[in-house]
Amino acid sequence: MRVTFWGAAQTVTGSMHHVEAAGKRFLLDCGLYQGRRRDAFERNSHFPFPVSSIDGVILSHAHIDHSGNLPTLVHNGYSGPIYTTPATIDLCRPMLADSAFLQQKDVEFCNRRREHRRSKGLDDRECDPLYLLEDAEKVNPLFCPVELGQYKEVAPGFRYRTYEAGHMLGATSMVIEADGVRLAFSGDVGRKHLPILRDPVTPDPVDYLIMESTYGDRFHKPVADVADTLADVVNRTAGRGGKIIVPCFAVGRTQQLVMILHQLIHAQRIPSIPIFVDSPLAVNATEVFRKHPECYDEETAKFLSEGDDPFGFSRLRYIRDVNESKALNDLHGPFLVLSASGMCEGGRILHHLRNTIEDSRNTILITGFQAEYTLGRKIVNRDREVPIFGEPMQLRAEVVSLDALSGHADQGELIEWMRPMASHLKKVFLVHGELAQGAALAEVIRKEFHIDVQQPSRGHSFLLT
Ligand SMILES: [Zn+2]
Repeated sequence: MRVTFWGAAQTVTGSMHHVEAAGKRFLLDCGLYQGRRRDAFERNSHFPFPVSSIDGVILSHAHIDHSGNLPTLVHNGYSGPIYTTPATIDLCRPMLADSAFLQQKDVEFCNRRREHRRSKGLDDRECDPLYLLEDAEKVNPLFCPVELGQYKEVAPGFRYRTYEAGHMLGATSMVIEADGVRLAFSGDVGRKHLPILRDPVTPDPVDYLIMESTYGDRFHKPVADVADTLADVVNRTAGRGGKIIVPCFAVGRTQQLVMILHQLIHAQRIPSIPIFVDSPLAVNATEVFRKHPECYDEETAKFLSEGDDPFGFSRLRYIRDVNESKALNDLHGPFLVLSASGMCEGGRILHHLRNTIEDSRNTILITGFQAEYTLGRKIVNRDREVPIFGEPMQLRAEVVSLDALSGHADQGELIEWMRPMASHLKKVFLVHGELAQGAALAEVIRKEFHIDVQQPSRGHSFLLT
């Protein structure tokens, strides 16, 4: 078996690993690389292997950094199967369509700026979107549902089985068996006790492990503290008449926060301020969450069985319409808006940030990992000046990070997750983490389990025997 790391190698986005075994070639994930615009376009638009050589794709979960380049693959002629769980398939439909929409918007914006530059006699060419809605829609018929825990033979002598990842609805880790080698791929590993989701499950013993390392150098606060922090932020900001702007992934994080806010209002721990979910994707994704109660943990299943709607309550409004979204700009605080994208790279969140970021009464609540070079990262770093729609703006709003709700295990949790399989492992490959995070985790793994650890760079290839 040969594995080549083509994405999420010493970085956190663009997950894509090439596995060659039993005479076939499969991709584990086909994610969108996010970063500097020009680099990202180059990397996403050109595959480092002939697309026609790929026999199948095995997808760990629906997040765009794992699934978001599937439309480019299909645009380049791929028409083979894409294996994943039923919930992931249902989430991918709206998420890939939304991704196409965001890219179209982004290109329109860039081209307007370029037109302006050209009008001044500067040479600047137009650019095209990475893919269109029609490419995203062509992905849908290729999905092949594989239930959690089921063995699936994807080619003669090449099979795989999935395990609960506890990271997002439908997300899995997996074990691949081919050429007499057992290789585990963690996908993204979640945390115990996250709202809605079941806890992550460690796969059975394997020879090799590809593991994520997003938070390989960090320890999160306990999940139980999330409700307390959220209550403090809402009370403090509402007390000064401010607005709370929450850039968050439309899928997963939004539904978790909605459920916690529901519980806080119910317990009268926060005032009953208006709460808006301003994202058409979040609205669509919430419908997918409602459709897949088989993925819920016990607490959420119980909530549902008691007749409560975990994702709806009287102070909450879901907004699809763009005019309703714009109307929020004229609304005075206090209120709370959840909007995408989670790293502030596009979407309606940009309008909300533009309208609130320069007022110190407001709070920007960051709820997930912010990749290098993104606007979200600049906000978390509390840069004094940040660019929004290409214009410099003063960051005066309070910034709060709510790491505990991270969908990713921290260093201690990753070590505990891999512990049951550690004694059999020949080698661990750390992916989906910046170099420093991976290095910190690698050191702990070497010390704790005495296993060889690699942090493959892009294109790095290994023969597994
Ligand atoms: Zn993920």
